[in-house]
Amino acid sequence: MGFRYVERQKCVGCGLCYSVCHFDAIEMVKNEFSFIPNLIEDNCTDCGNCAEVCPGINILDYPGKFGSITKSLICSANDQSVRHNASSGGACRTILAALLDKAIVDKVIITRATDDPYRPETIITDKISDLMTDRLNSIYSPTSPLSAIKKLDEKLKYAFVGLPCHIAGLELCPELKKNIFVTIGIFCHHTPSFKFVDKFINDLAEKGEVNTMRYRGDGWPGSTAVSHKGGAKSEFNFIDMWYKYNINRNFQLSRCTECTYYSAEFADISIGDPWHMLGQDNDGSSLVLIRSRKGEDVVNASESLLTIKEVTNFEEVMQFHEINSQIKQQNKK
Ligand SMILES: Cc1cc2nc3c(=O)[nH]c(=O)nc-3n(C[C@H](O)[C@H](O)[C@H](O)COP(=O)(O)OP(=O)(O)OC[C@H]3O[C@@H](n4cnc5c(N)ncnc54)[C@H](O)[C@@H]3O)c2cc1C
Repeated sequence: MGFRYVERQKCVGCGLCYSVCHFDAIEMVKNEFSFIPNLIEDNCTDCGNCAEVCPGINILDYPGKFGSITKSLICSANDQSVRHNASSGGACRTILAALLDKAIVDKVIITRATDDPYRPETIITDKISDLMTDRLNSIYSPTSPLSAIKKLDEKLKYAFVGLPCHIAGLELCPELKKNIFVTIGIFCHHTPSFKFVDKFINDLAEKGEVNTMRYRGDGWPGSTAVSHKGGAKSEFNFIDMWYKYNINRNFQLSRCTECTYYSAEFADISIGDPWHMLGQDNDGSSLVLIRSRKGEDVVNASESLLTIKEVTNFEEVMQFHEINSQIKQQNKK
């Protein structure tokens, strides 16, 4: 089965089909909802490579509600400014920084916000300074990180960060995954479409055009902050913002409504919010699930930069993720 048979509604916009195509028959474009692949008919040989690795149509199974986990931790960046300004506790960027600093990987593949809220971008970098910016905070709009891995250097080691569907895509594609030394997956209930961004920006229209926007940061769970071109600023409690807009299924990418992944079950390390700590920790912490030996080694390598506490009440902690995972369990059936 080739690309032309993949229904649009099944597409997560990850860009893996673009990266895996040997005939340059796919380009990634943006429409009103998301990033989507566009077929260049003249180049397509109908080889079916793209459909074979598509995480939108090839669903991987995993044990239990959260997949295999060998250890769970609560981590926060020792650098208080990093901790305060990151999405949760800054564990993800701190681990990446340690990997670069110790030359355990040569480069990291990360997705970040740009000045245009409709154009988040994925970059491949070896600069720690690229990590320590609020551009890296959780982006609640479509992203396409697997479109950045078409031409990785086989001599280099990479760390890749992505959402559960992106990580599942890599798992489906050994040809490209072989270049990735370690994967870090971010928990995800769903990705809001660009229709959410439209609505959010329209609601702020009287303050002027949007200059920059970050969805998380400034403590935990943090705030959503917008700076407008005329100099005005808007700031909202993140949880209020989320419930105002994103409880509405119309703003979800349609593929997300049937997604079976939540906690990045195929990553070496998965990271989410420690919701059981709500009200107790305003600076921020990250819930870190280790799933492989490599994941454990990588977190150990970050020890000097992170405060790490082992979770001893796993069931209790994960109860706070139960509602989010429930819908995925239903979709699995
Ligand atoms: C769309 C979305 C939905 C989420 N849903 C949940 C949820 O339901 N429950 C929960 O516990 N946590 C959820 N999270 C995860 C949470 O918001 C934090 O990202 C996570 O706890 C890591 O925090 P940190 O401070 O350790 O990461 P940081 O140090 O802030 O690093 C964040 C990393 O995530 C990457 N990133 C950010 N947004 C995206 C994106 N859209 N696509 C690809 N890479 C991205 C950045 O490149 C960066 O490497 C969600 C995140 C996103 C983006």
